[in-house]
Amino acid sequence: MAFYEERKLWNEKIETLSRDAIRALQLEKLKKQVAYNYENSPFYKNKFEVVGTKPEDIKSFKDFSKIPLMTKDEHRRAQEESLEKYGNPYALLACAPKEKIVRINSTSGTTGIPTFYSLTQHDVDVVNEMHARKYWRTGIRPGDVMIQALSLSMFTGGLPLSQGIQHMGACVVPVGIEGGTKRVLDFIKLTSPVAIIATPSFGQYMIEKYLELTGKEATDLGLKWFFCAGEPGGGNPEVRKMLAQGFGAKVFDHTGGGHAFHGISCDEPPEQFSGMHFVSEDHCLLELIDPKTKESIAIEDGAIGEMVFTFLNWEGGPFMRYALGDMLEIYAKPCQCGMPGIRFKIIGRADDMLIIKGVNVYPEAIKTAIFKFRPEVTGVFRILIDRPGPMVTPPLIIRLEYGLSLSEKDLPVLEKKMMSYFRRELRIGPQFEWVPPETFPRETKKTKFILIKGEQE
Ligand SMILES: [Zn+2]
Repeated sequence: MAFYEERKLWNEKIETLSRDAIRALQLEKLKKQVAYNYENSPFYKNKFEVVGTKPEDIKSFKDFSKIPLMTKDEHRRAQEESLEKYGNPYALLACAPKEKIVRINSTSGTTGIPTFYSLTQHDVDVVNEMHARKYWRTGIRPGDVMIQALSLSMFTGGLPLSQGIQHMGACVVPVGIEGGTKRVLDFIKLTSPVAIIATPSFGQYMIEKYLELTGKEATDLGLKWFFCAGEPGGGNPEVRKMLAQGFGAKVFDHTGGGHAFHGISCDEPPEQFSGMHFVSEDHCLLELIDPKTKESIAIEDGAIGEMVFTFLNWEGGPFMRYALGDMLEIYAKPCQCGMPGIRFKIIGRADDMLIIKGVNVYPEAIKTAIFKFRPEVTGVFRILIDRPGPMVTPPLIIRLEYGLSLSEKDLPVLEKKMMSYFRRELRIGPQFEWVPPETFPRETKKTKFILIKGEQE
């Protein structure tokens, strides 16, 4: 047995720290980080000045929560201002000198202008460490081949993820989805990976496509791990079951690209989900706020709120109290896997929340409900609204594909079943518009579930 098979965790010292120890470490790092941001960036210095405080006044997390939030809109403005002043969108928010910045990452920019991250070599090392912590926990070891079927380019799940996999000694095949589904399938056949990293929607599409191309089930591909990324589906039991059965693989949900917020779910049956373990707490301070009032919400079991993060021990672009717009649910009870620390589930974007007759609904909850009815439905759907949310004039219109084995005459019965399920579980009575299977394009990138009238697919 090789030496590394004995080790359960990548960084046992940090990953097994008690709650109190990790909080103490965070506070110590936070004090240094705020002083660093203040010293090195007029943007962050101003955050202290508007509330009349100085880094040395920050002695507790409570003191820190008085610093104004950085919103996505503010970030967009800062990026525009930076572009005008420095000729790039990140210099204004960078705290390290230009010659120390070695990599620029960005989000895929599904909701407007991409978010840019500037990293020094130190930051790149931190990101690599976080990826290693995640995959090591799931049992991936040197010698294992992992195929990366996400959008590559400079998306935070692209190159940083590949480097992280190499860092822990496993082997990455960064095929990417840009070359199309057939190419990904061909490369699986050519490189025999044991694990794949992809969006859950793409996973579903691969299962359908492989059957169509070869007449065989996707279990034939020999994948043992399916790592969900880019969409919340990896925390949805129905989606997890579909992937687990379709590939014959263990399903993990994970998050974290080229920045400091990283999490991974534990090894558990697909019909169960205990949240993602927050594995980067020593480099990321998490806070929760109410998405409307921006009031602070305590991080405890069952809490739901918009995430706010602050990078710790970070040099390049160390975000401070950044409200990115993702909604999290917290799991704080001890996990059955025995690992300490809090866990979370990403339940959607704060901007994707819809309010129908006073009931709040996220597309992810609608997806969960629709997936309950597979294979009578394909599971592919769109929500159609008249104008940008969150307020929706009822009824909410859901356009969805019926399953391959159904014909139009079967639909009234199915619709009745679905309607009563939606009323009972989600407290909404949507209007279903049926379309034949494979009406919607199968997304290779993040799927946009909400369409505003007049908007193209
Ligand atoms: Zn666990």
